[in-house]
Amino acid sequence: MNVYDSARMADVLAPIGFTSCSEAGSADMIILNTCHIREKASEKVYSELGRLRHIKEKRLLDEENTIIAVAGCVAQAEGEEILRRAPYVDIVLGPQTYHRLPEMVARAARAGDKKNTYGRGVLDTDFPTSQKFDHLPNESSFQGVSAFLSVQEGCDKFCTFCVVPYTRGAEFSRPVEQILNEAKRLVENGAKEIILLGQNVNAYHGLDEREKETSLGRLINRLSEVDGIERVRYTTSHPNDMNKDLILAHGQQKKLMPFLHLPVQSGSNKILQSMNRRHSVESYLDIISDLRKSRPDMALSSDFIVGFPGESDEDFEETIDLIKEVKFSQAYSFKYSVRPGTPAGSMAEQVPDELKDERLFVLQDVLKKQQTEFNSSKVGKVLKVLLEKSGRHASQLIGRSQYNQAVHVNAPEYNLGSVQDVNIDSVLSHTLQGSIKKYVKDIEVGQRSEKTQGEHV
Ligand code: SAH
Ligand code: SF4
Repeated sequence: MNVYDSARMADVLAPIGFTSCSEAGSADMIILNTCHIREKASEKVYSELGRLRHIKEKRLLDEENTIIAVAGCVAQAEGEEILRRAPYVDIVLGPQTYHRLPEMVARAARAGDKKNTYGRGVLDTDFPTSQKFDHLPNESSFQGVSAFLSVQEGCDKFCTFCVVPYTRGAEFSRPVEQILNEAKRLVENGAKEIILLGQNVNAYHGLDEREKETSLGRLINRLSEVDGIERVRYTTSHPNDMNKDLILAHGQQKKLMPFLHLPVQSGSNKILQSMNRRHSVESYLDIISDLRKSRPDMALSSDFIVGFPGESDEDFEETIDLIKEVKFSQAYSFKYSVRPGTPAGSMAEQVPDELKDERLFVLQDVLKKQQTEFNSSKVGKVLKVLLEKSGRHASQLIGRSQYNQAVHVNAPEYNLGSVQDVNIDSVLSHTLQGSIKKYVKDIEVGQRSEKTQGEHV
């Protein structure tokens, strides 16, 4: 979502003359778009700001100002603290106010001066009632094959470990028409795949043109009718919002990919309850079973937290059991990280860091083996690959299979942006290697034969 938000910030700033550049040292403005989900991510902000301060001071010697802005969830959670610890920061803005960036830039330019004294930074971390999406420009700088599109934001679930409800605010769904219009503009700029985003994307319940609430399953069907959209994905989902519509859509909607990231966090009901997840191991497994009934080749991914307060060896073992039962094609796993102001942070029985390390190692080993097994099972098979970008080598394109695997394909450039049948030859680490399968007409024999090759036939 931060990738999407950063792109939209660039869109907001374009009309007042900013374009993105690759060198921070020559930029007139630098925005750090930050994540607060775990402590490690937050810590990075202050070390990075120290580096930016040098850039700012160096440019000031040449009478050039550099506006430094901190955006995103760290800004939302620690706004005043950032301005106190890093007085050279000009703007601090939360994730719900970036449509007001031009106004903030004007205020910061007035407040700052070029003689090495810092003005008071502009702070805008409201949760405005008028939604930012109504004020974002239609023009989008997006160019590419696979595009993110935020459809839902915020969260009302309050898992006891998580900062999202505090930093992103209450749950909100964008109206259907606004989403369809944005999708059409993305298609005009080359998008073939749309990845719908939300902290709880499957809680989506936006209003359609007739003011009727629309589920994510229905929204996906509407998007699939847009000319030019060939693939739809969505992330991240909560098990409790995996409704019938959506499960059925996986079986019925051909443009919806057979891959789902569905975080479970733990395989212990005791821990799930303490996390306030409001789902159980059994209800999670039921969803997986329904999904596989709807779409038998469904590939699954998840998030896991190890070392949540009170997690015993038995609880951890139950998580490993769940993993072995489901068999994931990929997954993310984290050590529990205390977040300020969240209930789990002050729970008794915090797990020592060394034990978290040990458990993470064991868990990741199981997950890695499952991923390798899943990938290896595709060798010798044909996958549908959307070719998204050029690789490092000549005649190498990189794309994603329908199961969200990265695939390197020997194929000429003109195949970019197309979905191709790719013969999978081998697996290298987490990446599949393959070549385009072509059906060629054998003129002499007059029969259809198969030929695999990297070159145009
Ligand atoms: N809405 C999604 C998750 C969004 S946060 C859901 O409900 O599943 C992304 C992931 O970060 C979470 O799934 C969780 O695994 C991880 N995470 C969140 N807070 C964390 C914390 N305090 N410590 C460690 N991992 C955390
Ligand atoms: Fe955080 Fe997801 Fe729980 Fe919401 S549902 S509080 S985003 S982990």
